[in-house]
Amino acid sequence: MPAIKVLPEGLKNKIRAGEVVERPASVVKELVENSLDAGAGRIEIEVKKAGRGLISVSDDGRGMDREDALLCLERHATSKLSREEDLRSIGTMGFRGEALPSIASVSRLTLATAPEGVVSGVSIEAEGGGVGTVGDTATTGTTVAVRDLFFNTPARKKFLKTDQTELMHIVEAVTSLSLSHPEVAFGLKADENPMMELPKAGDLRERLMQVYGGEFLSGLIERRAPGLHAFISKRENTRQSRSHQYIFINRRPVKERSVSHAVYASYESLPEGRHPVYFIFLDIDPKKVDVNVHPTKQEVRFEDKEGIYRFIKENLTEALKGVAVPAAEERPYIQPSAHGPSAGLDLPYQVPAPAGLYVSESLAYEIKPSVPFVYLGDTFIALTDGGGLTLIDFHAAHERVLYEKLLKGVRLEGRTLLFPLHVKLSIKEHQTILGHAGLLHELGMDVEDFGHETVLLRAFPPALRDSDMRGILGDVATEISEGEGGPIQSLKEAVAARVACHGSLRGKRRVPGPEELAALLGDLDSTERPDICPHGRPTRVRYSLDELKRVFKRR
Ligand code: ADP
Ligand code: MG
Repeated sequence: MPAIKVLPEGLKNKIRAGEVVERPASVVKELVENSLDAGAGRIEIEVKKAGRGLISVSDDGRGMDREDALLCLERHATSKLSREEDLRSIGTMGFRGEALPSIASVSRLTLATAPEGVVSGVSIEAEGGGVGTVGDTATTGTTVAVRDLFFNTPARKKFLKTDQTELMHIVEAVTSLSLSHPEVAFGLKADENPMMELPKAGDLRERLMQVYGGEFLSGLIERRAPGLHAFISKRENTRQSRSHQYIFINRRPVKERSVSHAVYASYESLPEGRHPVYFIFLDIDPKKVDVNVHPTKQEVRFEDKEGIYRFIKENLTEALKGVAVPAAEERPYIQPSAHGPSAGLDLPYQVPAPAGLYVSESLAYEIKPSVPFVYLGDTFIALTDGGGLTLIDFHAAHERVLYEKLLKGVRLEGRTLLFPLHVKLSIKEHQTILGHAGLLHELGMDVEDFGHETVLLRAFPPALRDSDMRGILGDVATEISEGEGGPIQSLKEAVAARVACHGSLRGKRRVPGPEELAALLGDLDSTERPDICPHGRPTRVRYSLDELKRVFKRR
């Protein structure tokens, strides 16, 4: 990158200047954009008190030498633009040379930077815009720390919202930049708590996976065409709010009405009040799009607005049409199994093939002689101990086992997730869940607020693997709001019963194989109440030989 220069007067005036520092999240955005422009491979963001106390952004990018470091705090000093022609083909996130001086003018800012290959760099302290101390530092790359934002502009400070809201905007800013730069690693800490940890990703799909998790991703269709890479809601996966709608033009997050109209238009007959999730990435020749129309660079002007509208709409319409074809996509609850019964059976449950011959209602399996039970359909097994016949509802049995495990604090074996799951809830569910995080913790589930009515699920008991976490948390919230103060069971028990129901075989629509069943029967025997499920229904019923004789009129 060329050295920093102060823009000549004529060019300064051609730049849409304006207030770039509206709230802590704007600082985060500008600093992270600078790190991206500096070619960073990893960007570390730390905030305290939702950015009011501290915003620090560190990168391993190319850094600045002493002269540039001093210059970069001056108005209209930039290394990204020097001639008017450059304004028409902007390839960097920044270009106005305004962010650093604007931020410095409303905070106490320190900058520590060293260009590549230099051991000792320079550190600068500025307060309210005036440059104070200059010293040496042993950093590589650049760290900008912004303290006491708006300390000298009390009016602006007063307009800030709650910490939670401001933090949510910060998360939003980082999320959006991380999506457009999957090749860069990001870390975000708020008051020492890690909030996002995104290692370098190979592509957009992997980054979406890191940020939102597999369940979210499976509700989207991907579309690629020259100049377009999109992930949009499948038809059946629209939402009640406009959350998770992103448009990027040449990697720059923008709000562009014509693009979002094109997306909505691709869904024929979108029901009133329903909104798709979308991530639209457009690559457009920088000469054909003007990003210099809005101070925060959120709006753009296309040379061929209609052409772009048609291009997006046609592509997404096709993508949405394609989705109905593979039936598997519409029935995601059926887990593909390598050794299931022959394909083509229209079973609502996946039945693993046992290694022996069984007679079930509709299917013949091979039997494993050592296992003393037979399957009766997809709910029961029958077994005999010589003195009678026992029928077991193995779904109910599994619920009992899970329920007691949950209550006994399977937290110890709780799975801490490498990438926490993001689970989007309604406002009410979100509040209820966060208000009972302690209770969930006792049941082995660790949740944290992620803003946007989203919680981060950091750990859950292994039994819940493959379960629908959105469904679980939604149901738990309902249970809590309905069941609070309920007489028979304690709240904890009621919630555990709900969770057990989801984690159970029934919740997963799965029929266990013989070995799994044998283990389940052992577990059931060691529960405190093996005869009833947490909802009070029987798990097993035994007919003694005497009873059978009576049935057969042998007596
Ligand atoms: P702009 O990004 O519009 O050029 P800024 O005020 O954000 O304006 O930054 C001014 C200049 O400071 C940039 O052009 C760049 O040369 C330099 N700079 C800012 N942040 C960094 C960084 N993290 N690493 C290297 N150089 C930086
Ligand atoms: Mg900048």
